[in-house]
Amino acid sequence: MQPYLKIPDPLHRHALTRLLLCDHPLAVEQLRRRRFSRGRIERQRRLCRFCRLAIEDEVHALFGCRTNDRLVAVREDFLDTLFRLNPALRVIFFSAPATQFVDYLVNHAETLKLFAAYVYQVFCIYDEVPMFIPST
Ligand SMILES: [Zn+2]
Repeated sequence: MQPYLKIPDPLHRHALTRLLLCDHPLAVEQLRRRRFSRGRIERQRRLCRFCRLAIEDEVHALFGCRTNDRLVAVREDFLDTLFRLNPALRVIFFSAPATQFVDYLVNHAETLKLFAAYVYQVFCIYDEVPMFIPST
């Protein structure tokens, strides 16, 4: 059994499972699945609904976008808590690729629940605003 399946809060467990299985509300995935009358929307055009500057993917939503104030606030809370818990994580966060950082968070019991709660919060913030659908 995957460690993340033991996360007690069902909403947090579900959010993390969606992230790990690429079954999440972000445009990079949602617009990949949709077909429009004018055809597919290519990956590079699946832009963030908040900043419309970057592809709305997992890394951008979790660690990149700085346009939405609530998103920035929950990220700062999450990282502050994380770095207080384990100061070495600051080094990983600022030096390793985001995927490696996420891999660490998911595979350590001390960070797993915290990260799942954060993913849940981020998905909720994205869910509140309609996705950006580029015109032709
Ligand atoms: Zn953005």
